[in-house]
Amino acid sequence: MPVLAEEPTVSLPPGHDPRLDAIERKVRDGVRLTEEDGLALYETRDVHRVLAMADLVRRRLHGDVAFYNVNRHINYTNICALSCKFCAFHRKKDQDGAYEKSTEEIVRDVQGAAAAGATEIHMVGGLHPWLPFQWYLDTLRAMKAAVPQIHIKAFTAVELVHLQRISKRGSEGYEGMKAVLRDLRDAGLGSLPGGGAEVFDDRVHDEAFKGKIRGDHWLDVHRAAHELGLNSNATMLYGHVERRPERVRHMRLLREQQDHTLRGWAAAQGIRADADGGLVLTGPASAYPRNRLPMPGQDGLTTGYFQTIIPLPFYPNESELERLPAPTGLENLRTLAIARLMLDNFPHTKAFWIMQTLPMTELMLGAGADDVDGTVVWYDITKAVGEGNHQETSVRDLTKAIRDAGFTPVERDTLYRRVQRDGATWRVAN
Ligand code: SF4
Repeated sequence: MPVLAEEPTVSLPPGHDPRLDAIERKVRDGVRLTEEDGLALYETRDVHRVLAMADLVRRRLHGDVAFYNVNRHINYTNICALSCKFCAFHRKKDQDGAYEKSTEEIVRDVQGAAAAGATEIHMVGGLHPWLPFQWYLDTLRAMKAAVPQIHIKAFTAVELVHLQRISKRGSEGYEGMKAVLRDLRDAGLGSLPGGGAEVFDDRVHDEAFKGKIRGDHWLDVHRAAHELGLNSNATMLYGHVERRPERVRHMRLLREQQDHTLRGWAAAQGIRADADGGLVLTGPASAYPRNRLPMPGQDGLTTGYFQTIIPLPFYPNESELERLPAPTGLENLRTLAIARLMLDNFPHTKAFWIMQTLPMTELMLGAGADDVDGTVVWYDITKAVGEGNHQETSVRDLTKAIRDAGFTPVERDTLYRRVQRDGATWRVAN
């Protein structure tokens, strides 16, 4: 008989991490996680248990439903007064590749999107140095006049601060921002997308995007929108010069702002806050006498709120931070799961397929994500794969990815209401 060589050792699966027992009990009972808990979830080798906990929460909220929408992104200009180090999108006026779209071109895009069945336009751009505030109002009005049914989700907080400046309301502080948002809302703005948050930390800010607004200012812009009844979303661009504790703190700050916004409504609903005023909306169903979270304007809710957390991995290519490695797939899964667990008062968690890839998005649906974004078509900012800005996917591909991952695809509008569709014609389902 041949002598067998000694079997190679197989590395054992990650061992049981006792720190996760207490965290899992909290998740099961609907108790808020601390920043220390968030860090333990980052440090543990038992990443699969972290993903399983996030999956428990997403199924508690949404069962096996995974949302997608039919939308079109419009980047109206890439000309920007700033030069953030991580940004490969911006150009100066006379630089190769600089562009600005006219109102007429944008309206044509909106009409084309509507003809293809889009329910939403997602519109953001650089901080254009010369376009006047009136251009933005006129463009929103023209978009709505062309397609009244379309929802316009537009402008990151840093763009809105720029609009406040050029509208000459810069000296009016918070009330000036509310006035700008009121004007934009009256012209057709339906909600805010949530970009430009990056990571709320002064060191990170000064190292990677000095010149852009700081975290407290970003949060103020969204607070103003919520007070006006506009919903918004929140991103976290991670994997560059920040560290994991800074990501967890970013999540905590978003969560605290959502507590502040929803506290009055929740008390009236009989939803109890914890001893620190924390408002957990992702616990077991028995904790919620009525609706966990209705649409603005329903059930006594007079404000808007953060709908979705969208963790965005940083892609260094062509940016000033090109030397840095992009975050790995496992880090992306883990970050998404931790965002689901820490942001216990956010109803939705998105795996933005453009930046995560569709195959990775399938995995993310089992790790806390309940939304994959939409058909997109043109996206000029950052993408995980491919050249150029044509980043279209079809409803067939999106729904196939969702089904392959074991979930049931449901089309939503921008406010997460279910959509009933007959070809390009659609309405919100009852
Ligand atoms: S991230 Fe935004 S603000 Fe910064 S340079 Fe790019 S487009 Fe301009």
